[in-house]
Amino acid sequence: MLSLHSVTKRYGALTALDDVSLDIARGEFFGLLGPNGAGKSTLMSLVAGLRAPNAGALTLDGVAITSADPSTRIALGLVPQSIALYEELSAEQNLRIFGELYGLRGTTLRQRVDGALEAAQLADRRRDPVKTFSGGMQRRLNLVAALLHRPKLLLCDEPTVGIDPQSRNAIFEYLERLNREGLTIIYSTHYMEEATRLCSRIAIIDHGRIHALGTLDELLTRLPFEEEIEFPAKPATVPFAAQLAAYGELAKGEGRHRFHPRADYPLSAFYALAESHALPPRLFTISRPSLEAVFLHLTGRNLRE
Ligand code: ADP
Repeated sequence: MLSLHSVTKRYGALTALDDVSLDIARGEFFGLLGPNGAGKSTLMSLVAGLRAPNAGALTLDGVAITSADPSTRIALGLVPQSIALYEELSAEQNLRIFGELYGLRGTTLRQRVDGALEAAQLADRRRDPVKTFSGGMQRRLNLVAALLHRPKLLLCDEPTVGIDPQSRNAIFEYLERLNREGLTIIYSTHYMEEATRLCSRIAIIDHGRIHALGTLDELLTRLPFEEEIEFPAKPATVPFAAQLAAYGELAKGEGRHRFHPRADYPLSAFYALAESHALPPRLFTISRPSLEAVFLHLTGRNLRE
């Protein structure tokens, strides 16, 4: 459905996207996972036709996406990272404006606005000005506004930043339902939990490049280790951690460290080393490595930094 061929986007001397190629099929829930500044919003804005690439090409159903062509904008919905609503106006007035921008009129407009208010769980607040809404309510309204014209592709640019868990969950469930009903979704996030829960395929993006792309399972098989061991970052574990780094990958966090032992470093050796530092086994939690470990392994960076 959507193809990017060797797309490069520069802002002056800064290369925000560097030779990115990507194919997304109809019906996918596709994740773009990367830290702030990775290039996710830039990629979204190129797909939405809001900016033009310096090199490369983008096509939607075989037709070139150009910033001059309004047909691109009709085919897709963009949920921008920053909330784009008129604060002084009510939820209903905001939706009417967005609907009219997309050419909706009369009964169709009224029905779509009503449906959107229901979907955002804001029907009872329809006449209240948006400035009286919580962050989560504004995010929900922002999302349904992008869907009024029934686009075939939805671009969600970090749509859950700064909201409460309840609204986050409501957004997840709504997006999952839309995807089940056939909507293709591209979802950018720096939360690996979101990519893990929502996305059928995930591209790991950093410094404008796609470092890996696949299903969660495919990404996990790229790791040279099969376990993740977590332990507390305490003064007592400092000399142990220093020695451990020779036997695998150690990701130091503020509260907890995560260690990924090399395949040839057995757990028995790990526990023997811990014992020699007088660290009891109960300090350690062993689990399957996460997407975060893939990110760290591929980019050398911690996603949460
Ligand atoms: P992300 O969405 O992953 O946080 P962005 O696409 O917003 O990343 O940014 C990628 C890089 O491009 C960053 O280094 C950012 O500072 C830079 N950038 C983004 N937009 C602009 C702009 N309009 N002008 C100059 N630099 C920009």
